[in-house]
Amino acid sequence: MKEALFYKNIESNNDLKVKCLLCPHECTITDGKLGICGVRENRSGKLIALNYGRVASMQMDPIEKKPLYHFHPGSQILSLGGVGCNFACAFCQNWSLVSSDIPYSETPPEDVPQLAKKHNSIGIAYTYNEPLIWYEFLLDSGAKNKDAGLYNVLVTNGFINQKPLKKLLPIIDAMNIDLKSMHDSFYKEHCKGRLNPVKETIGLANENSLVEVTYLIIPGVNDSDEDIIALSKFLKDINPDIPLHLSRYFPHRSFNAPPTPPETMSKAHNIARESLNYVYIGNLMTDFGSNSYCPSCNALLVERTGYRTTIHDLLKDKCSKCQTKLNFIG
Ligand code: SF4
Repeated sequence: MKEALFYKNIESNNDLKVKCLLCPHECTITDGKLGICGVRENRSGKLIALNYGRVASMQMDPIEKKPLYHFHPGSQILSLGGVGCNFACAFCQNWSLVSSDIPYSETPPEDVPQLAKKHNSIGIAYTYNEPLIWYEFLLDSGAKNKDAGLYNVLVTNGFINQKPLKKLLPIIDAMNIDLKSMHDSFYKEHCKGRLNPVKETIGLANENSLVEVTYLIIPGVNDSDEDIIALSKFLKDINPDIPLHLSRYFPHRSFNAPPTPPETMSKAHNIARESLNYVYIGNLMTDFGSNSYCPSCNALLVERTGYRTTIHDLLKDKCSKCQTKLNFIG
């Protein structure tokens, strides 16, 4: 554990309250209590990050599984997960990995680059639970990774205040950010979060690193044509080259709507492609929405079957057919 960054003491009748300033919840926490994320505790007026160095999941994954399709396609990355989350999504697809009382091992930040190298990984993906509430550990281990020539990748809900985000971004190479709906009411009702901070994170992160966005399509909840049009327009206004992953929903946790019909996925794919250059389908075997094509000459850049990746006309960040510069890092 470690004293948290980004909090302040609140003067009130000597009761040692603190306000955490890491994420937009800005929890006011009394002595001995935890914030909403369950991993930041007020100890006698000091905010402590209990989860510092606590690694609950570790696994080598294809980078495509994050999903990141435009960052070193075909590579493998060591994926680390901590504990806790600052959202409470009723349809969470990772619920068993999020609880703050699952088993963990203590891993100091200086051990992380060694772990990556031992596994022949290109770097570390901070994923599974919400990595932004692992903030102090991310900063420290991420800096060590950079010193060792390794990449840092985040798979995140994007719910963080701008000041800590700006401090973190210089060491982050790529992010997959979940955008769950274009309606604030959805975030409030289903995730106990808010939409605008997530939108701001996508905009700011896009200026600093490679950003891909995942949108989980839930039938009857966020799957209307208007929803997909609003999503596509929002991303297009930031950067039409942002890869969008439309992910098929399956029932999880307290959500029991049936899985998203393949026709809905196909329709959403068609709508989004009218605005965006790279739209992919996830969690569904299809003959569309897996490969990357050059937006200029339509050459096949990367072919994907499941997590098997074959590079064709992609040469690092260029189309080898027409030489167009592309939004890839390879
Ligand atoms: S990081 Fe945790 S404690 Fe801090 S504001 Fe967010 S939910 Fe609250």
